Parts: sequence; structure tokens; C-alpha cells
Amino acid sequence: MFRKILIANRGEIACRVIDTCRRLGVTTVAVYSDADRAARHVAMADEAVHIGGPAPRDSYLRGDAIIAAARETGAEAIHPGYGFLSENPDFVDAVEAAGLVFIGPNARAIRAMGLKDAAKTLMAEAGVPVVPGYQGANQDADHLQRQADQIGYPVLIKAVAGGGGKGMRLVERAPDFAAALASAQGEAATAFGNPAVLIEKYIQQPRHIEVQVFGDGVRAVHLFERDCSLQRRHQKVIEEAPAPGMTPEMRKAMGKAATRAAEAIRYSGAGTIEFIVDASEGLHPDRFWFMEMNTRLQVEHPVTEAITGVDLVEWQLRVASGEFLPKRQDELSITGHAFEARLYAEDVPAGFLPATGRLAHLAFPQNARIETGVRQGDTISPWYDPMIAKVVTHGATRAIALRALETALVDTEVAGTTTNVDFLIALTRHEGFRRGEVDTGLIARDIAELTDAAQPDARTRALAVIGLAGLDDPAKVGGMTLWQPLRRTIAWGDADSGGEALLEVLGPGRAHVTVDGSTLDIAYTGGRWWVDGGPRRSRIVRHDAGVSVFGGRSLTLGLRDPLARQGAAGGGGLTLSPMPGLVKAVYVTAGDEVHAGDRLAVLEAMKMEHTLTAARDGTVAEVLAAAGDQVEAGAPLIRLEEDAP
Ligand code: ADP
Repeated sequence: MFRKILIANRGEIACRVIDTCRRLGVTTVAVYSDADRAARHVAMADEAVHIGGPAPRDSYLRGDAIIAAARETGAEAIHPGYGFLSENPDFVDAVEAAGLVFIGPNARAIRAMGLKDAAKTLMAEAGVPVVPGYQGANQDADHLQRQADQIGYPVLIKAVAGGGGKGMRLVERAPDFAAALASAQGEAATAFGNPAVLIEKYIQQPRHIEVQVFGDGVRAVHLFERDCSLQRRHQKVIEEAPAPGMTPEMRKAMGKAATRAAEAIRYSGAGTIEFIVDASEGLHPDRFWFMEMNTRLQVEHPVTEAITGVDLVEWQLRVASGEFLPKRQDELSITGHAFEARLYAEDVPAGFLPATGRLAHLAFPQNARIETGVRQGDTISPWYDPMIAKVVTHGATRAIALRALETALVDTEVAGTTTNVDFLIALTRHEGFRRGEVDTGLIARDIAELTDAAQPDARTRALAVIGLAGLDDPAKVGGMTLWQPLRRTIAWGDADSGGEALLEVLGPGRAHVTVDGSTLDIAYTGGRWWVDGGPRRSRIVRHDAGVSVFGGRSLTLGLRDPLARQGAAGGGGLTLSPMPGLVKAVYVTAGDEVHAGDRLAVLEAMKMEHTLTAARDGTVAEVLAAAGDQVEAGAPLIRLEEDAP
């Protein structure tokens, strides 16, 4: 076993790797950017080395600086986590050239799986089922059209070098093929410097089921499957293991295909084989197909750990330090069911826009495993993935584990940034999901109800008003201490957005709050809040940014976060970049007339495209950015002329 390793990552995954290292007595070295000086992973590690500026290309993507840090501190191996350099074969070569061990597969295996067409061909040769389609070298448009016609519509065009859903086009009918092909090739050429595409049969109502594999360079085992069908725009939201409705024969077939895939490339370390499954008529052993292999530890690995009892990071360290596989296939089994929910700083009603802010209050539930890279008082900065934590639950059955997830999320408290917690809670209560009827289209189909259930209602607002009035203190409510009889107006917020309510205290632990035109009866008795006679699981929490109500529908009233306002238009005349990103397109030039809501520019950030629109009517005075520019958060992009007096 290694004596000391360096972790070339940040956030929750760096912390998670350190946890296992501590247990194994391995000394850890963290690396950090300017933005992460005081981050949790730096505080947890035995040593830490500063490697550069906040932008990933200036720090966490700088292989040279990371290798230098490992040599300086005497680390013997580098754990890449996920993202950043974890699937970069050139980095693996450089690590090995420096006489260090890369905790993961070798560069050859990463390259073999790097391009979708080569990976599919390789897997087909190894006898692994692949999605029917064309993944050949001939990229002539007429030839590709004939291939698509032969496969039968609908088909999916995919960039062979693709990732993150880019360069992907769904084509429903033959006449639309040529145009879709041209646009996929164009996008692929810009994004990946490689216009080549492959064509695939489009699976209707698919499920995403992936198999965790582990190899030691000779042999491979699988640690069963995870179902990651609950996705929003191809991003996983809640994952679970095992897959609902899985049959023993299907599991056997998928496990066999996955280990065959890993052994075909003499894989070493933790990897995931992603399959797409046609579940339109239940699960069948002949209806799953290889999609791609991720040659690293996955975000959702904890659900596999929960059902198998294996610490995958421990296995990674043992195998990288020269051990054979710690267990044989027949020594692995499934116990119970597990879920993972990804808690993000994001504004769900605003279209899941990434959010930032200082975590004025942060409390996690006791009944779940929490993987996090932040503490109360830390800041979710615009520089990195805005994940706050992964909430993982395990139970004897799927129903028990799902109920535990719901409770854990209800008991999760985050203030200082807006989060997706109420959206996640709404998902745990979704009828179809409860029944295990998942497919990748579930969230999109029910997005309206799911987002609606995640909005604060009048009851939540009324409880927040109680908090603002200072009546939430257990010493002052209920019991013997009387609320002072009074009638007053409580106001919150600032000039941009705020509101007020009328508060009428009726007696000990009882008040009326009139807000948004309705009057609600609030009581505190028996250690809980009651609204209009119904008990609430709500908790009122005061912190230095205001007052929050948690418990299913959350709301914070009071001081606003200054970072969150950087994205706002300055007086409506200046459009600022809401986050660091790449300007994809600018639709206006100086002198153009625009109307409120008109599209001004498209920004690509956090793996998504964001359309920036005019905040008011006006004339464009100045365009301060051009397509192709990399911009910082808060950078001015477009200025409108001052309003005529
Ligand atoms: P990327 O590497 O760009 O993320 P993937 O090949 O992993 O692309 O596919 C991303 C997602 O697109 C999958 O998780 C699945 O939801 C959907 N998808 C991919 N291939 C197909 C297909 N043949 N039919 C239907 N949906 C697909």
C-alpha cells in the first residue's frame, strides 16, 4: 500500500478519497486553486499545495503543476477523482514518465474507450451487444443517409469524439437527415476538432443502466448495476442500485457483457460500462446495448458501495499498488437497495440555472451518508460544478430506501444559495418513480408538476414571517411564555423584490399571518408547527443572511446574497455574464432596436447553454463581447443606450 498519495481534484470527491486514505493510514496531499484556499478538502488533507488560479485550466487541469506538487511532497501516486484530468491519457503518460503511479487504468485503455466509434467497434468484436447502427469510417453524406435509411428512423447522429450530449441530433424522418447531419458535424468540428459522426437506432423510452466493473489488468469482476434513468437533459439527478425490475437472467447477461468488455482491454481499476436499455416491454436480456465506458470512478459510486459493502476507493488504492482483485465474483452480492440524490446550488424555477452564494446555514440529516466538499460558511463559487452534496440512503427494500431518501432531503437545510432540494423531494414523491417505472424521459414529461411542487407556498411564507418577527425561538413560543398580543406589519427583501405581511398575535403560541391575500392560522404546540390546523414538518432557522423555512418547501427571507446578484442586469441596461463561460453567439450589433425578452447572446457554461435576453426595450449602444470570447462572471456583454428622458 502507498505511504502517501496526491489527490488531483477538489470538492466532495477529493474529500471522499481522503476519508478512505485516513482509514487506511495513507497520508494525503491536496492541491488547490486561489478560489479553494480555505476549502474543505484542503483542511482535511495532511498537506496541501497551491497550483494556480481559479479557472480549471490554470489549476486543476494543469498536469505539469500537479505532477510537480506530487514530486515536491514525495507522494507516490496520484488519484484523479472524476472530471478534470481523470480521463486524459496524456496526463497518465506524464504521471508514469515522472515515476509516479496513476490510480486508474493505463493510457491505452483510456484511449481505446475515448472515441465512440472505436469503442463500439472494439466492444462488438469482444461480443458485447452495441446499439444497432453505423460506426464506419466513410463519412460521405450520401453514404450516411443510406445507412440511416437502412437502420430505420428515428435515428440518432452522434459525434464520435462527443461528450455531454454535444454533436448529437435526433432525426425522425429521412428528409430531415441531411440538415441534421450537417449541423451535428459542424458542432462536432467546433467542439471537438473532429467532425466524424456515427449513426445509431434511437431507442424510445430508454433506461440508462450501467454496470460497475473492477479490473486488475488480468481479470475483471462486476459489482452489479446502477439505474441512472432519472435524468434532466442527459444529466443524472437521482441514481439507484440495483435497477428496479431487474431479473436474475438480465443481470447475469449485463454483468457478463460488462466484465467481457473490461477484460477485452485488460482493464485495471474502477470503471463503468454504460448500457442503454429498451424497457418499453419490461427488461429483456436481448434488449440492452453498450453505449460507452467511463474509465474512472463515477459520481454515483456510493450506491454500489452501499449495496455491496465494498469501498471502491480502497479497491482502487489496493489494485494500483499492485494487489490482485480483492474479491472474486462469487464473493460479491447485493444487500438491500440504495439511492443517491445530487444536491445542487441551482435555481429550478429559472430553468435550473447554476447558482452561487455563501452557505449561511448548512445542516445535513443523520439518516443518510453525506458526501460533501463544503461546510457552513463556505462559498459555492461560479468557478466549479455547483454540487453541494450527495445524499445517499440504504435500506432493506427499495421502498424503505426511497422513504429514507425523502426524509433525508426534507431534513437537509441549506441557506445562502438557492438549491434543488425541493425538486429532489418532489421526485421522491413522484408516483411513477415510487413504483419503479423510470425512463430517461420521466423528468421532462412531468417537469411542470415537479417544479411546481418545489415552489414555496403561502404556508411556507407565513412561517418565514413568524421567523422574521422573532417568534420562532422555542423559548418564546408555546409553553408558558406568552406571545405579546400585537398587530404589525413585517416586511422583507430589498428594493428589487420583497414583500410584506400582516402579523396578528392571538395568544400563547398562536398567530394569524396575512400574506399574498390569505390569512393563515399558525400555532406552535407539541414541539411542532401547525398551519391552519395541519401539522408541518417545517423548521424555522435564523442565520446571518435572514430566516429560512425548511422541510419540503423551503424559503429564505431577509438579506440577499451579493454573489447571486452579479447576474442581474445593471439598471436593465447592462447585460452581464451570470457565470464564467464561453460566448457562443451574439445576436445584436450597436444600433439595433431590442424589446424586453429578445435574445441577445448565448453563453455556454457548466455544460449547458444559457440564453441571455434583454431586460427592457431599448437600443443597443455597445456590444462588449464576441462569439468565441471566454468571459468571467459579471463581465459586461451588451450595453443598451440610456433611456430617453
Ligand atoms: P455523451 O457522451 O455526449 O453524454 P452518450 O452516448 O453517453 O452521449 O448519451 C447520452 C444520453 O443520450 C444517454 O444517457 C441517453 O439518455 C441518450 N441516448 C444515447 N444514445 C441513445 C440512443 N441510441 N437512443 C436513445 N437515447 C440515447
